[in-house]
Amino acid sequence: MTERFIHRYPKSRSRLKVAVVFPNKYRLGMSNLGFHSVYHEAQSFPDVMCERVFFDQAAKTPVSVESGYGLGDFDLIFISVSFETDIPNCIAMLERAGIPISPNNRKSPYIIAGGIAAVFASRYLMGFSDAVACGDAPLLIAPIIEAVFGSENKDSFLTGISGIDGVYPYTSEVPVSYRRDTEWKNPAHTVILSNETDFADRGLIEISRSCKYKCAFCLVSRAYGEYDALPVARILGIADYYRGLTDRLGMVAATSTNHPDFGRIVEELNRSGFQLSFSAFRIEPLDDALLKAIIDNENKTLTVAPETVSPRLKKLIHKEIPESLILDKIRTACMYGIKRLKLYFLIGLPGETTEDLDGIIRLVTEIREVSTVNVKATGYLPEIIVDINPLVPKPLTEFQDVPIEDEKSLRKKMVYLKNRLRSLGRVFVYGESPRNSHLQYRISQGLMDFEEIVRLSKRADTADI
Ligand code: SF4
Repeated sequence: MTERFIHRYPKSRSRLKVAVVFPNKYRLGMSNLGFHSVYHEAQSFPDVMCERVFFDQAAKTPVSVESGYGLGDFDLIFISVSFETDIPNCIAMLERAGIPISPNNRKSPYIIAGGIAAVFASRYLMGFSDAVACGDAPLLIAPIIEAVFGSENKDSFLTGISGIDGVYPYTSEVPVSYRRDTEWKNPAHTVILSNETDFADRGLIEISRSCKYKCAFCLVSRAYGEYDALPVARILGIADYYRGLTDRLGMVAATSTNHPDFGRIVEELNRSGFQLSFSAFRIEPLDDALLKAIIDNENKTLTVAPETVSPRLKKLIHKEIPESLILDKIRTACMYGIKRLKLYFLIGLPGETTEDLDGIIRLVTEIREVSTVNVKATGYLPEIIVDINPLVPKPLTEFQDVPIEDEKSLRKKMVYLKNRLRSLGRVFVYGESPRNSHLQYRISQGLMDFEEIVRLSKRADTADI
């Protein structure tokens, strides 16, 4: 593994040992900008020693990447939780480190849990942490560390942090909203380049927050509030950090193409010698010139998420991308040399019928047809990856009161689609397991008691549950 630091963190005498924990694999944690942001904020204190710890299911005890310290060696632990199914991993890490799980039975270390899970699963986070931090790292990490410096024991620490907007001690009410850094005090970006992440040696920059669209099933725009874009000048300034270290950047956003200066970002960063990738985008705002620019920038995969095909269901989820537009953009992308098409669909939508599933098969069949447009010239038939995921109704979304579809029925639908789609040739079908979707549903909706979560933590890997 090779790591390169983007910033220098000058150190004086260490007054506090801080662990920044990601309760899943290194590869995932180091691909997560929230995790980088927490690390950067803590590491920026000259008198704080900050190290990273990841969950390795094969390891008996979790230890830090930098020095091999155990979790019990730290004074303060920040745990960044992105996925509800990682909550059992948090508990497994504490157990393996010999740290009491309940905050009532623990004097030290102090544990703060945060991440997007704080918005909908705080009740569980408060089962093992001293406080939940529900907001952006640049607003919360420094005041929490200062509260440690200013306190003599855990009681005074809890009193100290209870005055921080966005921080909720475990004895308080669960948070109701996420505290956003609306001034972009310190935009999230990769602070350590690693060759062992999903975006190897690529500097990621968060270019916008939230989402302009409000798809009925999606938590993004509900959790993060109003859409907001990072000004181009700031993006270019952050890109400068990577000069000489990597020429590969990734623009992170719910929908990159909604950035008001998307074209300019691509143009200016290309001119500066960077190759760009994009975490996700909606195809509606893309004209042909932008599509070509995206493909010329190493993006050999075009991702489109129609979610469903039936006009009735499209309306229900407030995501109505016209089929003609999808086919048109895919045809153009194939002309420009795209190698892979990635399509996302949801199953288990309220009132869904077999005809609705047949609509998905029809659309993928048409996509297969239009994607052959340039095969003669390139000698290459783009592969199609179809990702089918069960609808997991999440709190705060319009579907929060809709029950998840029965596991058996979801499995049947998955098999129905897989069998038919795979016969189309170079179509590969994947998706979240109905079992795991049910687990996500039960955790995010708070339908489990904490003891059940603790029992889950004793299993080797919740990803396989
Ligand atoms: S599904 Fe995508 S486009 Fe729709 S609200 Fe969520 S992030 Fe935005």
